[in-house]
Amino acid sequence: MAEARTHVLVINCGSSSLKFSLFAGTDRAAILSGLAENLGQPESRLILKENDAKVTIALDGGSHDTALRRLMADLQERGLLDAIGAVGHRIVHGGDRFVKATRLDAEVLAEIDALSYLAPLHNPANVLGVKVAMEVLGWVPHVAVFDTSFHMTIPQSAHTYAIPQEYRDAGVRRYGFHGTSHGFVAKEAVDLLGLDPKDHGLVIAHLGNGSSATAVLNGESVDTSMGLTPLEGLVMGTRSGDIDPGAIFHIARQDKQSIDDLDTLLNRKSGLLGLSGLSNDCRTLESAAAEGHEGAILAMEVMVHRLARYIGGLATSLPRLDAVVFTGGIGENSSFVRAKTIARLAALGIKLDENANGGMFGGRCGVISATAAGPAAAVIATNEEWAIANEARPYIGQDIRKAG
Ligand code: AMP
Repeated sequence: MAEARTHVLVINCGSSSLKFSLFAGTDRAAILSGLAENLGQPESRLILKENDAKVTIALDGGSHDTALRRLMADLQERGLLDAIGAVGHRIVHGGDRFVKATRLDAEVLAEIDALSYLAPLHNPANVLGVKVAMEVLGWVPHVAVFDTSFHMTIPQSAHTYAIPQEYRDAGVRRYGFHGTSHGFVAKEAVDLLGLDPKDHGLVIAHLGNGSSATAVLNGESVDTSMGLTPLEGLVMGTRSGDIDPGAIFHIARQDKQSIDDLDTLLNRKSGLLGLSGLSNDCRTLESAAAEGHEGAILAMEVMVHRLARYIGGLATSLPRLDAVVFTGGIGENSSFVRAKTIARLAALGIKLDENANGGMFGGRCGVISATAAGPAAAVIATNEEWAIANEARPYIGQDIRKAG
């Protein structure tokens, strides 16, 4: 039966949600995708999307296990379960241990679990998802694909924090995230812009609810904005990005806040939400800013300022800048954010083509800069799920056990 198993199931498991996509062969579009949300709560539900059709199934308080078992039953009914040949799992933190996608077994899973101290919000949920999926779909290979792996090529000068050795020895360094997206977009950019795969320099801005920018030299990450955790760097939906640690000491002393309070403040109450007092959603803020909402205007201005500053800074980690590439929900859809950012990049010699910029949304990819002189600017739709499926696909057929 192994030869019939051509599909890859991709799972991205959070603490109370689980996203999945099913890819047939090498097709870029998932044939079925969806999410389970509010897991462990009374209103937990599973939503399945196939083409334009959407089905919602109540899970009645069920958790990850219930959601995955229900999904498997649905796949069985659709005749798709036996077509699955591998499962790819998004794992947020691989520390400096995992430099590439890795076949999961009990030992690897234990190592990922042991890295939870670096990503306490993400890795435990990822591990839970893997455990449940390996139980439910135990007869196919499961593959861990790490957000951090792509950044393991970053040189020491760029990934080292200026702190005493004992902390550096304990793994406190910049790791970087969104690696699957940055790696995918970097490859697409080479094709779109006709660059030499062995001689090019890019800055990629992945802008979504979480945002990061990365300098890519000849296909390898050489610098990135996120750090030990996905909190450092750009202004995000609810995350502050860079802030003077001294400001945190000040707030802690002034308001007698605990470490957990500060974690919540910077990860969940800051960013666009904290700045605007209105929303973490860029689309909402763009509309509000257009109507004169002061908080929304400030939020957009601070976000764009930080982004342009990072793009300029990351360019110095490259011998040459060929292009700045925008991706992620905001990068792919907001001509406003792109225009405002590029307007600040005059020093790099980038000029916007306003018409091209205005027409780039909803998954379209293309160049949005005006002249052939100087670096280009482009929009490329990311497809992290497909990139994860690509990493898992080579494992199809390895040690497949009989379906239980
Ligand atoms: P992601 O996390 O990649 O799904 O991106 C989510 C972000 O993309 C949210 O802040 C959305 O408001 C933003 N976004 C999606 N579509 C648009 C749009 N048409 N204009 C501006 N922002 C958008």
